[in-house]
Parts: sequence; C-alpha cells; structure tokens
Amino acid sequence: MPTTLPAPVLTIRNPATGAVVGEVPVTPIDVIPAVVARARIAQAGWAARTLDERAAMLLGAKGALAAAAERMGTLASQEMGKPIKEALGEAKYAASGLEEMVREAVEALREEVLEDANVTTRLVFDPFGVAAAITPWNFPILMPVQNVLPALVAGNAVIFKPSEVSPLCGQAWAECLQSVLPEDVLQVIHGDGKQGAALVGAGVDLVVFTGSRATGMAIMREAAGHLTRLILELGGKDPLLVLEDADLEAAATFAVRNSFRNAGQVCVSTERIFVHESVADRFTQLVVEGATSMKQGDSADESTQIGPMSSARQKSIVMRQLQEAIAAGARCLAGECDGGPASAGNFVRPTVLVDVTPQMSIMRDETFGPVAPIVRVNSDAQAVAMANDTPYGLGAAVFGAPDHAARVAERLTAGMVGINKGCGGADGSPWVGSRHSGHGFHGGKYGTRQFAQVRTISRSR
Ligand code: NAD
Repeated sequence: MPTTLPAPVLTIRNPATGAVVGEVPVTPIDVIPAVVARARIAQAGWAARTLDERAAMLLGAKGALAAAAERMGTLASQEMGKPIKEALGEAKYAASGLEEMVREAVEALREEVLEDANVTTRLVFDPFGVAAAITPWNFPILMPVQNVLPALVAGNAVIFKPSEVSPLCGQAWAECLQSVLPEDVLQVIHGDGKQGAALVGAGVDLVVFTGSRATGMAIMREAAGHLTRLILELGGKDPLLVLEDADLEAAATFAVRNSFRNAGQVCVSTERIFVHESVADRFTQLVVEGATSMKQGDSADESTQIGPMSSARQKSIVMRQLQEAIAAGARCLAGECDGGPASAGNFVRPTVLVDVTPQMSIMRDETFGPVAPIVRVNSDAQAVAMANDTPYGLGAAVFGAPDHAARVAERLTAGMVGINKGCGGADGSPWVGSRHSGHGFHGGKYGTRQFAQVRTISRSR
C-alpha cells in the first residue's frame, strides 16, 4: 500500500515556557519556482494599476490590520518572547501607521521632472518585477511592514518569507494584506535558510532582506550570479559615547533602555559603551542600578520589561560571549556574573561588564543580548577611535553638552547617529547602515526609491 509522508511543519514553541504556540507548513523547495511563476503573472496586472490605485488598495487593509492587532501582538509575544505591551504596540502600529507609510512611499515614487536650458527629463520609478522579502524575528511585524509594503507600492509582486522563529505573526500580517490584494500579488512561503536561499536563487528581480551580516553575505553571493538587485539591512555593534560633560542620569537611562530593550535583540541596541574616565564610576553605578531594577519574566505579564531570549540558540551565543569575556578578565557587575547560577530557561539577566578589551568577541561580534560592556576612555579621540573600530556601522549615540556631542557625532562612521538620544531620525529619514551594516537601505525618499528601477525619459525643450 502506498504511504504518504505527512507534510513537514514548523512547530513554534514559546521560548520561555516551551509551550506549543502553533505550526505552519514548510514550503517544499521544489514548489518555490512555481510560486515565483505565479508572482510574475500577478505582477503584470499589479504594475498596470497606477501608483494611487495600488496605494488605495493597500490602505483598504487598515481595518483588517486593526482587527488582527490583538492576535498578532499576542502571537509575536508568544513566538519570540517580546513583552506583551511592546508586542501589542508593534502590532497596533502596523494598522495605525499604514496610511503614513503608504503616503511616504507614494510621494517617493511619484514621477519627478528635471529641466535644464535644453532638456526636459521625466524620472519614472518602475517596479523591478518579483521581489523576495526575507525577514528576521526580532520585530516580527515591523520588519515585514518595512520590507514588503514599499515593494508593493512600487508595483512589485512580493514573495514574503518570515523568520522560521516568528512565522505565525508574519502569516497573520500577510493575510490582512492578502484580503485586499489581487491573488498572488503577495504570497508567503515558510521555512528556514534553505527556503530563503532557494527563493533568492529562483530568479526573483529584487531581494529585500533584513537579518544578520553572515546571511547578507550569503545572499549577496547567491544573487551575484544573476546580478539581482539587493536591499540588505544587516546587523550592528552600536556604540554609545558618554562625554565628560554628559547629563549622566539621562545617559545611563538611555544606556539601560537601549542595551536591554527586547532583551538586547534590537539591531540598534547599544552593544559597546565608551565613557570618559572622569565620570565613569558614577555612570557605571547608575547603569548597574538600572540593570538590577528591571523586571524580567513572563512576556505575557503587562509589567514585564524583559522577556526571554528568542531561542536557546540566541541564549547560547550571548552566554558564550559573556563567558569568554569573563574568562579573559572582564568584571561582571550585574546579571549573569561568573560563579552565579545561569538563569534558567532561555532567560539572560541584564548584565553589566567592565574591564573589557577590544579583542574580546563581546566587543567585536554582534551580541544581540542584554549585555552592556563599559569601557573607560581618556579623551574624545580615544572614544571615537574605539567606537569606529568595527566592521559594522548601523547606529551610534553620543551623550554630552549639545555642541560638544554634535562635534563628536560628526566623527562617527555609523549610518545613523543620535545626539543625546537614540539614532532614529525625523519622519522621512532613511533607516540606513553603513559599511557591513547595510548594502542599500529603506525608509524615506531615498530608501523607498531603492524598491524601484529609476528610468529617465528626456526630450529637447
Ligand atoms: P538571520 O540572518 O539568521 O535570518 C534572517 C532571515 O534570513 C530568516 O528569515 C532566515 O530564515 C533567512 N535566511 C537564513 N539563511 C538564509 C540564506 N542563506 N538565504 C536567504 N535567507 C536566509 O537573522 P535573524 O537571527 O533572524 O535576525 C537577527 C539579525 O537581524 C541581527 O543581525 C540583527 O542586527 C539583524 N537586524 C537588522 C535590522 C536592520 O534594520 N539593520 C533590523 C532587524 C534585525
């Protein structure tokens, strides 16, 4: 009797409790070319609509997104351990921010006319065709929003692969859009790096990727054979510089929030702190107080500030870096300190290290965990040199007297620098990494235009 093997599924477990959250079917690799072929057929009709028609259709998803927000937020919290308050905030923003995000994309992609004495040129923004959007788990709703929406507004059909860690809320978000889009304009596939690599290699025209530097490099290698367009938003090792004239309470509050938020699993988390030696003791004491006062626990509890790491794998990366640093002479002042019992389950306590050196992996490699390594420096020049001593260049922050901090900020090589604040810019700013933190970027006029092929059409005047 012929036997049929059950279709493989991804079973998602709550990283704090191990409880099953749900499952999704894994997309067989050999099905992916057919998914791309369907996208290509759908894309022709989608691109034939005007920019405003596409935008209006997408805006129709607002009601579905609002209705699904509670469910998406709960799923995000259960899948990757984000505290429920933050997860719900992220899910609600997918609905409340939709109009603004679509409007920004439409403005960026509207035709523009350039003229000189002799020539009139129209700049036209055409879709590439079929786009693959591959996302990470750390902002499991915001990342799909930022990677998929501009591609759709531009007239591309999109094949979306959410992270294998957070496929359920990715699927839920996509279903809201699918409810208002023509068939196959947005499709979802599920799986891990194998499905991601197969999708990149399946003849798509654009890959929009947010994730780690290593995966970004793998995607670039795969895409090179087809010269596929890429937008890669990658990891970081963000520095915080605390100058001798900084408001120490403000700097420490920022350090605590930005090192430990989302259990340190934010691309622009503070991962290295350089503080002037004249204020280092007081600043460090404030950070230790902040770290030890944070409430860590069940993500479903409204008062929880830090949940678990998203997975055992993520915890093991953080613990390995911590243990190596402590073995090489770093002193642990709070959290997962040498000799203390490691936290149970997938939890890592907010940890503060001093006496770290630039050679330690905790100072070189992305940690993506709740760790604040603090280095004393004796000058701005030393702080800047150490902050720039990284292949990454995503965000950075400088705390100090405003003019002083602004001068220091000019010398940092990160794509986004905040002065007495985090690195996010005003509305319309790009979200951009320099060096190994990005290859292409999104957000704002310049980022959104990367989701389209610019074409010039010129005539004599
Ligand atoms: P990851 O690179 O391991 O995985 C990201 C996605 O890529 C997943 O969907 C995964 O299945 C897929 N993938 C894995 N191998 C692939 C391959 N060979 N080809 C195609 N796809 C493949 O990253 P992660 O652990 O999910 O996310 C954490 C990383 O994302 C961190 O480095 C973080 O800094 C980064 N990140 C960056 C930004 C930014 O804006 N720059 C934002 C969020 C997260």
